[in-house]
Amino acid sequence: MALIVQKFGGTSVANPEKIKAVANRVMECQKKGNQMVVVLSAMSGETNRFVDLAGQMQSIPDPREMDVLLSSGEQVTISLFAMAVKGAGLDAISLLGDQVRIQTDTMHTKARIKSIDADLIKGHLNTGKIVVVAGFQGVTEEGDITTLGRGGSDTTAVALAAALNADQCEIFTDVEGVYTTDPNVCSSARKIDRITYDEMLELASLGAKVLDIRSVGLAKRYKVPLHVRSTFTETEGTWVVEEDKTMESMLVSGVTYSKNEARITFAKVPDTPGIASKIFNPISDAGIVVDMIIQNTRAGDMTDMTFTVPSTDYEKAMEVVKKTAAEVGAERVSGDPNIAKVSVVGVGMRNHSGIATTMFHILSRENINIIMISTSEIKISCVIEEKYTELAVRALHDAFELEKDNLPTEE
Ligand code: ADP
Ligand code: ASP
Ligand code: MG
Repeated sequence: MALIVQKFGGTSVANPEKIKAVANRVMECQKKGNQMVVVLSAMSGETNRFVDLAGQMQSIPDPREMDVLLSSGEQVTISLFAMAVKGAGLDAISLLGDQVRIQTDTMHTKARIKSIDADLIKGHLNTGKIVVVAGFQGVTEEGDITTLGRGGSDTTAVALAAALNADQCEIFTDVEGVYTTDPNVCSSARKIDRITYDEMLELASLGAKVLDIRSVGLAKRYKVPLHVRSTFTETEGTWVVEEDKTMESMLVSGVTYSKNEARITFAKVPDTPGIASKIFNPISDAGIVVDMIIQNTRAGDMTDMTFTVPSTDYEKAMEVVKKTAAEVGAERVSGDPNIAKVSVVGVGMRNHSGIATTMFHILSRENINIIMISTSEIKISCVIEEKYTELAVRALHDAFELEKDNLPTEE
């Protein structure tokens, strides 16, 4: 008998028929003798609808109230799922984050899990129930509802798999696994059979939303093998696992994009020691994560500072930086929420030159202007205008021939 955690995303539970179909799939798995823990997202579109509703009430919604709202979508799907199971004559129980005591810190809308009460779930499993847990939510020590950040149901599933010492953690979604790029953007995207945690971390951090980055970090830390696969087919998906000797790192493992980026520029700030700290401290205090940073050294004693923040934090960040601009004596601050980051990722890049130049060449051939560039050992990212995202992704995927296996050769 195995203990299996299965997570189904929003499109997998988008309507009553789909919820019933997913319940049938889970019941089949239980009938084979397995103990089943199911993590569900809200019906697709629901969480976005809530974000939109909140925006109609307050320009920057109160974070505590936002979490009360955002967490409600998962409450709907888990209860309907439990009813579907009971309607089919088996037993299930739906549990919210606070009932499973998924305890988090107090950072509303992007809370981090601190602990989970695994015994309570085990108790229900031992009485033969399918346990259905609301993804994406937790509770603070004080009893306030929190959410884990968009896409956070993946993280709930992996955290539960780790806490329960589950035999398998399966992430069911609307594509057949992890691809070399988003298969909904590029038709020649190729499914990857096995990928290491580290490569998946890179892909997720650069925008491949098929897995929430925090779920991958947790899976790596607790050695939980993840199987990402389709809800709608029986096909084997992608295994996210530890590196082993039979796996060679691909030269370029994927092309990713993120439209969740916004640019902010401080123009003409005094180029003096401590300026970066004065600019970035208040942003970090507001709980906003800065990604790329570029500082120009200008002639004279002034400089420009440009950086990116998640577009969901753009308005909050602009409020903060307007205050800072006055304090540090910047000539002006400007921002642009309509940018995107396109990245080429691959561990094999470490020992190969020329990837960056190919990327720049392809973007220029497509007449796409590069606004910012950032590189690390295993990735190159370019910020471009958001409207060119799909064009850039397809052109780069073709240029690096990702539709074929591209293991590095000795040539
Ligand atoms: P779920 O609601 O099941 O959590 P998501 O929408 O969060 O699903 O993630 C699945 C989507 O991720 C796919 O529909 C696809 O468009 C997108 N995606 C982006 N990059 C990739 C990639 N490299 N491989 C697979 N899917 C990707
Ligand atoms: N429903 C949440 C979201 O849309 C969590 C998730 O689907 O993983 O972000
Ligand atoms: Mg998701």
